[in-house]
Amino acid sequence: MSERHRKVDCPGTRELELYCLDELTAAETREQIKVHVKSCPRCARKMQNLYAFYAILSEELERPVRPGLLDFCKKRACNKVKYGLLICRPIPEKDRQRGKAYLATLAFSANGDGSKTSLTDFNLSRDQIGVMLYSDPLHNEVSLFLWSKAEGGSAPCRLEAPGLFEKTDFNLAGAAKIPLTNFEYLNNRLLYFSMKKRAAGRPKLVNRVQEMLL
Ligand SMILES: [Zn+2]
Repeated sequence: MSERHRKVDCPGTRELELYCLDELTAAETREQIKVHVKSCPRCARKMQNLYAFYAILSEELERPVRPGLLDFCKKRACNKVKYGLLICRPIPEKDRQRGKAYLATLAFSANGDGSKTSLTDFNLSRDQIGVMLYSDPLHNEVSLFLWSKAEGGSAPCRLEAPGLFEKTDFNLAGAAKIPLTNFEYLNNRLLYFSMKKRAAGRPKLVNRVQEMLL
């Protein structure tokens, strides 16, 4: 049913959406919608669908990029695009106050289509942090993707690489960007990861979508 034919007292879809996203600022409007939905099965159903959609979207936004997906993308990318894998192993004696020290080794990198190796050929031990690299020559950036999220505990939220770049922040899906650089410069380098408990301070869905679109 189009917006034009909806019952006069039903809130518009936009209002319902904003309500579901907890983005309606006027308390009065929020209360009106809450009361209305209780007595209007059509709006209640709409709202149920919206909640279901946002639940899926929310889950998808936090899904880490899998090695197989990057392998797939690289096969279809132009030759200028380079991809690779940094394996970082902990060096606790070098830890700083806010960052845990890891020594990064470039385990694999491929340019063009000359490589028979792919990311899915690698395995990581539990104490290692894997960072998959994917260059974006068009935007002069390298995208970083954490190999996988730490289960339950804490996950890297910030990466510092003294002498190479100041810092970069990982989003909830474990993705970050750094200025375009030769992957070799990342080899044998001391990196500092700041860790954060995953459950704490999850930003609002609208902000997370906006972050993804930047
Ligand atoms: Zn209604």
